[in-house]
Amino acid sequence: MNWQNIIGNSQTITHLQTLLAEGTMPHALLFVGPEGIGKFLSATIIAAALFCEGEQKPCGKCKSCGQLSAKNHPDLFVLEPDGQTIKIEQVRTLQSNIAFAPYMASQRVVIIDKADCMTAQSANSLLKTLEEPTGNVVFILIAASRQKLLDTILSRCMVIDFQPIDREVLAEALVEREIEPAVANVIARLAEGSFGKALRLLEENGLQMRNRALRVLEQLVNPDMDVIWRESSELSELDRTKIFEVLLDLNLLFRDILVMHSDKNSKLIYNIDVVAELGLEMEHWSVRRLLLAIGEVANTEQMLKANVNAKLAVEQLLIKLRDL
Ligand SMILES: [Zn+2]
Repeated sequence: MNWQNIIGNSQTITHLQTLLAEGTMPHALLFVGPEGIGKFLSATIIAAALFCEGEQKPCGKCKSCGQLSAKNHPDLFVLEPDGQTIKIEQVRTLQSNIAFAPYMASQRVVIIDKADCMTAQSANSLLKTLEEPTGNVVFILIAASRQKLLDTILSRCMVIDFQPIDREVLAEALVEREIEPAVANVIARLAEGSFGKALRLLEENGLQMRNRALRVLEQLVNPDMDVIWRESSELSELDRTKIFEVLLDLNLLFRDILVMHSDKNSKLIYNIDVVAELGLEMEHWSVRRLLLAIGEVANTEQMLKANVNAKLAVEQLLIKLRDL
């Protein structure tokens, strides 16, 4: 567990390392950025460095580093949602725990993952602790965006923005993990800057939803209504998150065909492993149709976010795409 494990965000990491080296770590930090880009890992490394008894912190060798990587360091608290939210009872338990002196280290670290899932009650209760910290505690809050956090919480934290990882950096990191360069290239394009998403895509069936989207796209050429009914009823039976994934993939495929209309070998194509299949679709999907199709998919995403019946929304989409 050390800084070398963090991919990308090098400026941010240098900033954090400087705070550690100079002993100027504020007592509350907020890490903001999309999922899967190293926010939690960075928070854990900061805890490791603050607790470490070695020279080069975190050394990875001392007792403290050992307990931290075994996930049982008594001075690190990790708070995460219980179900959908972080509840007030959880914040109260945390508060009573940090009221005592640290066990091993000279200070404690509290990581609050998905801090944007705190209820208003929880956030207000936490605020009191952030305002009048008892003992030597460093709080690291982690959130996808700052929008859902109370201004009063934001104003008490040093906000550190994490950015999606550059495609090249991500591909390189995958190759270093012995992924074939050609595969690493495709995955890095589809992972949208998230190492977490890249790892999920590499799992068996990781490209299942993308392949599903490709099948939908290929079948839209078919005027047979039965195909539309069957496909939409199968799609709508998926989890909502999976439906969103198929829609996102469908839009990326449309976007790729659009890019191919101006350059078939463009570096901007995401789904490079199915370029041949997409090439066959180009004749059917003119630039005009593609632009309309991308708009229709976006509309459907909005409808699903507004909780419209999934089957209805998907059916409407497929009919519209077919009739463009
Ligand atoms: Zn150590």
